[in-house]
Amino acid sequence: MTRRPTFPARLPIPAAVIPIRRGTGAPAQPVVSKTTQASGLGLDSAAVRARMVRKLAAQGIADSRVLQAMGEVPRHAFVDSALVNQAYEDTSLPIGLGQTISKPNVVARMIELLLGGQCDEHGRLGRVLEIGTGCGYQAAVLARVSREVYSIERLRGLHEKARANLRPLRVPNVHLLFGDGMVGFAKGGPYAGIISAAGGESIPSAWIEQLAFGARIVAPSVMTGGAQALVVLEKTTAGLKRSVLEAVHFVPLKSGIA
Ligand code: SAH
Repeated sequence: MTRRPTFPARLPIPAAVIPIRRGTGAPAQPVVSKTTQASGLGLDSAAVRARMVRKLAAQGIADSRVLQAMGEVPRHAFVDSALVNQAYEDTSLPIGLGQTISKPNVVARMIELLLGGQCDEHGRLGRVLEIGTGCGYQAAVLARVSREVYSIERLRGLHEKARANLRPLRVPNVHLLFGDGMVGFAKGGPYAGIISAAGGESIPSAWIEQLAFGARIVAPSVMTGGAQALVVLEKTTAGLKRSVLEAVHFVPLKSGIA
């Protein structure tokens, strides 16, 4: 791996010129000191991402396809410049219009669960549907483990933001749709996986209809008592297999567009 020299720690570089490097593996040693990371100055994004990936692995994310994709997508390119120095922390971040981008750990966990469904011989998912594009970050990660990604957002402002965020990264296999994801997107189906970044009372029937046999839906869902949990629904010829996993906190799944 080639390494660009990092900027001197004291040089005040605006967020816009932080070097973005993609397609690199984890460096042999951590190269980012606490100071650089905390200040956001001299941020070498590939090195900080590699550190995030090591943390994800230590937290139990085991799928190399997920770890590689998380190491490649520049999360800082999806958040406001004021939040850039938190982009690789294990925290959710505001993305505008009252919505949030999930913690890296939750994104990785959900994609890992999705990959447990229907993959091709190269270990890739076919067509995937994402509900809740938000800033477009998760769509970019999904694009690295799937053939095609259809991603729906109900808020026009965020749909446009995601478009602007993804444009410079050139991710040709992501198709952004503006609309109500509760009804899915029948034209793109049947899907090898459906993933939701917003939690409803139940899994909409349209998603189940548009899911391929052998594939999974991974979505937060409100349980009795009001708290959300991560739900995995697997569609088999024998019926639906539902697993309720850990507690999560997602923004609500809402109907209609705005
Ligand atoms: N995956 C996103 C996370 C966005 S937060 C990212 O990486 O940034 C969840 C998003 O779901 C919000 O933007 C919210 O507006 C959207 N959402 C909620 N209900 C929806 C629906 N019915 N259809 C489409 N998007 C929806």
